[in-house]
Amino acid sequence: MKILISILMIAFIVGMIYLRINLPAIKGKIGEKGVAMTLSFLPKNEYIVLNNLMYKNGSRSTQIDHVVISVYGIFVIETKNYKGWIFGNSSREYWTQNIWGNKYMLYNPLFQNRNHIKFLTTRFSEIKKYVTHLYSIIVFIRASKLHLTGDCDNVLWLNELNPYIKSHNSTIMTIEECHNIASILQTFNIVDKNERKTHNVNVRSAIHFRNEKINNGICPLCGGELIKRYGKYGDFFGCSNYPRCRYTC
Ligand SMILES: [Zn+2]
Repeated sequence: MKILISILMIAFIVGMIYLRINLPAIKGKIGEKGVAMTLSFLPKNEYIVLNNLMYKNGSRSTQIDHVVISVYGIFVIETKNYKGWIFGNSSREYWTQNIWGNKYMLYNPLFQNRNHIKFLTTRFSEIKKYVTHLYSIIVFIRASKLHLTGDCDNVLWLNELNPYIKSHNSTIMTIEECHNIASILQTFNIVDKNERKTHNVNVRSAIHFRNEKINNGICPLCGGELIKRYGKYGDFFGCSNYPRCRYTC
């Protein structure tokens, strides 16, 4: 009996350590599944949904949560599974997550998704053709409140996602063209598990390194000092090398 209890205790501790290490990735996966499920309700004869795409981008890689290719345009969706209150401005590089008074920084998801779209249009000429009908969408899954300023109309809750997509309703291509784009995106999608794992590790260490600098009051762009400033939309931190460096957070 004692041995059994010991084994259970060890299993519990190992489980907790595993969860602690992998929690961000697990939470991300749960969020993406919820969005994929919601998108699956879009009519199949007008919308093609691709989930969890990954591409080689020079020596790095780019991961895109969801792409919806439809006769009405192409929607690139980034899922954010953060709890607490989220504060942000569309033009600031970093947003703040506030959980019971503890503040954490997150990279502006609008910037993140803008990079995804830039990658897609640079890499695939078939997508570039529709650049004026490419739509960026950010979906928050669990946050209890969003305090956003600036141009954030495309930052949505999950229940707003399909109505927002359907609000774009002028036909710009045939469903055959949609299938053609989807098959190109699927052809180059990285499916190899190890390659995907390497990508996730690289992303996490890059974010960690950058956040560490910011939390120590160092500008991540030029190494200058971050100084508290007072602006129209409230307090923020700016680089001491302004105007040479325009970094703010
Ligand atoms: Zn700077």
